[in-house]
Amino acid sequence: MKLADRIKNLGTETAFAVGAEAAVFASKGNKVYPFHLGDLNIATPQNVVDASLEAIKDGKTGYCPNAGVPSLREAIAEDINKSHGMDYAMENVIIQPGGKPVIGKFILALMNPGDEVLYPNPGYPIYESQIQFNGGVAVPYSYKEGPDGFLLDIDSIEKKITDKTKLLIFNDFQNPMAAEASVEELKKIAALAIKHNLFVLCDEAYFDMRYSGKSKSLASLPGMKERCVLLYTFSKKFAMTGWRLGAAIAPKELAVILGKLNTNDESCSNHFVQYGALAGLTGDQSPVKAIVEELRKRRDKGYEILNSIKGFKCFKPETTFYLFPNVTEAMNNLGIRTYDEFRVTALEKTGVSFCTRLHFGSELPGETNRYVRFAYSGINIPEMEEGLAKLKAFIEK
Ligand code: PLP
Repeated sequence: MKLADRIKNLGTETAFAVGAEAAVFASKGNKVYPFHLGDLNIATPQNVVDASLEAIKDGKTGYCPNAGVPSLREAIAEDINKSHGMDYAMENVIIQPGGKPVIGKFILALMNPGDEVLYPNPGYPIYESQIQFNGGVAVPYSYKEGPDGFLLDIDSIEKKITDKTKLLIFNDFQNPMAAEASVEELKKIAALAIKHNLFVLCDEAYFDMRYSGKSKSLASLPGMKERCVLLYTFSKKFAMTGWRLGAAIAPKELAVILGKLNTNDESCSNHFVQYGALAGLTGDQSPVKAIVEELRKRRDKGYEILNSIKGFKCFKPETTFYLFPNVTEAMNNLGIRTYDEFRVTALEKTGVSFCTRLHFGSELPGETNRYVRFAYSGINIPEMEEGLAKLKAFIEK
């Protein structure tokens, strides 16, 4: 078999491999504390489940329009208009089987081979994979530590823009750093996009996962709606990761193309799940609030314990369900040089399983600090306490 050349450029999400390693460790009778994957161990709201089952009984089991069920497209447009202060119509909304497919379709629709695409590193690994798989040049930009959280390094972004730069991928409420841009930073990014005529993917997978304040979208700034595609997902807000439902929100002309890609790729997203999602969006919001409340308690607990570990330094983010402590000092104290040695030793000695910075891209030139990511969406508080106490004892021994 001779595979196509492009396959060598296809990346992956190595967090899944960490999960597989943890599963092998657990199968040998060991206790594992799962902090590695951004999945939720919280049930999908009952009204979503009930409406989906009703839709199955009602025969919503055939194909539906490739862009999605019109009532759901309309409800998503309304939801975004309310939360973003914008004025999208149903025609802007193209339903997808999850948020992730928006990344590849955005790139396919707008990037020619050889075009340069700016993307965050550390960042969600599928950006780099999809850029390179489709023949683009992936140009990483980074964040730096500020007093209360991670800040965009906007000067370094501007320096990386050339006449070949076509797209910018921007993940506010960021995975893995839980970084959130200030309004000032958003304005600077918008000015850059307009000045250099960049189209922007706003990955807003965690827009509604927040514990205080209000999320603001880059797309809502003047001049940005017409150059932004929003990645919207039901995965996190409604604890629906395995149901696979999301949407791309795009200027109308581009939305038509994204719908055409749907027809080519999967015909349509799951029909009956769209009725479940509609009930979730338009019905009682208390289950959604309960999910955020539970995550807030876990965030507080995780933040408190991680910051108490000698050699760990952790910000307290208001969004996402990730903590991204700086562990440089802890690794030095233990005499551990590589990320993998740190991760595997921690798993073997304590059962605590987490991803490192390397699961979100290669280290950039000049990077000296070391970070790991704790996802607290898939572990209950008593287990968090037990696991992190073991980790603390191991690190401080
Ligand atoms: N974007 C980011 C930043 C993510 O972290 C994820 C999932 O973890 C996604 C997109 C895709 O999620 P989904 O395809 O489940 O909507």
